Amino acid sequence: MKKGSGVRAIPYAVVALLVVVALRYTPELPVRHAADVLQQGEPLAPRARPWSRVETLNRGETLIGLLRRAGVSDQSAREVVRAATASAVNTRYLRAGMPVDVTSDSAGQSPRELVFHLGIDRLLRMTYTAAGWIGNEERLPWKTDTVVVRGTIHANLYQAMDSSAAGFFPGHAKDELAWALADIFEYRVDMSRDLQDGDGFHALVERAVGPEGITKVGKILAASFSLSGSNLSAIRFEGRNGTEYYDSTGKSLRAAFLRAPLEFRRISSTFGLRFHPVLGRWKQHKGTDYAASSGTPVRAVGNAVVARAGWSNGYGNLIELRHPNGFVTRYGHLRAFGRGVRTGARVSIGQTVGYVGMTGLATGPHLHFEVLVGGVQRDSRVALKSIGGDPIGRGERDAFESRRGTLLAMMTENAGVVRLAQVDRSLVTH
Ligand SMILES: [Zn+2]
Repeated sequence: MKKGSGVRAIPYAVVALLVVVALRYTPELPVRHAADVLQQGEPLAPRARPWSRVETLNRGETLIGLLRRAGVSDQSAREVVRAATASAVNTRYLRAGMPVDVTSDSAGQSPRELVFHLGIDRLLRMTYTAAGWIGNEERLPWKTDTVVVRGTIHANLYQAMDSSAAGFFPGHAKDELAWALADIFEYRVDMSRDLQDGDGFHALVERAVGPEGITKVGKILAASFSLSGSNLSAIRFEGRNGTEYYDSTGKSLRAAFLRAPLEFRRISSTFGLRFHPVLGRWKQHKGTDYAASSGTPVRAVGNAVVARAGWSNGYGNLIELRHPNGFVTRYGHLRAFGRGVRTGARVSIGQTVGYVGMTGLATGPHLHFEVLVGGVQRDSRVALKSIGGDPIGRGERDAFESRRGTLLAMMTENAGVVRLAQVDRSLVTH
């Protein structure tokens, strides 16, 4: 920057220059690591301070390398690393993609403050002082509240969630919420098959909003689906035997069979209720086809003994499981079998028994699933229908009913934030 020309226009020129520099040095935030359970919310607003910019640690890059890029001298960089290490931050294990805010002196020359975003709610602030670099680790607060989400199904659960949870949960968190609901109801509802146009749901969900607007799906306190006019609720209850979901009559949502051999989270968000990808079929096709990409884990829908695991003509690689109640389930077109899955082996409910493929007569990767009762194929929707698991213990009945009353009442409120205090009060009832 030039100085001292004495002309009045100079301050304006300086401001303009600052703006230009600020814009130049405000790169887009990196996408956070996919392994983070937490979701990225709104992108960061561009930094207002002129001599601030964000650098990102590249894969394989050392902290020294990043600092050098940020304009920190080698000697200063070594000081930073020393001070960071003194603040108990292991500089060898910083994750690639970590954003570092660099704030320089007013001339934009020497960095004066470095903020390392160690995690979503953890940062290390390094400040340059007369005594050299000093590091301070900071924890950023999360704000928790509870929201009611209500939706109507038109195409599928993802799309319903996309519109109904908008404003409460950003982007991918909405999928997380759909998956969490599917998990809660997995013994009762096949979310990829059982929902019809016009069905609806309510959910009472805890939400944690972190620094930078990152939003996390917390506990689902209660949820309810209306499926073709009939209602199915899930109430989260912390009882003596741990935390479990119960229906409104107090029966556990757990049952002997899962309703679907694929986890809902593995099913593409592009599937629809009315149209289904055209799948390979052969004569007298009796079963249910699940479109999924090759390699998707296939799970046993119940505890069983493997009756066969091998090649069977049109089925390709086929697994046949015999369940304790005499039901047999079949899983066809598999690309491969799960570890230890061979005739005579025992498998437990939810265990991965194979992987989706297109062996046998199949034109695309999908799982062919059958339920046989007395040797005859039956509609899995009917055969695996469960009306409930174990009822809640007698001693806990009153506490459960009181909790159920509170949660179901809250869920009938309009979509939006519900006061957390109300939830807390209901927690005191047992
Ligand atoms: Zn099929």
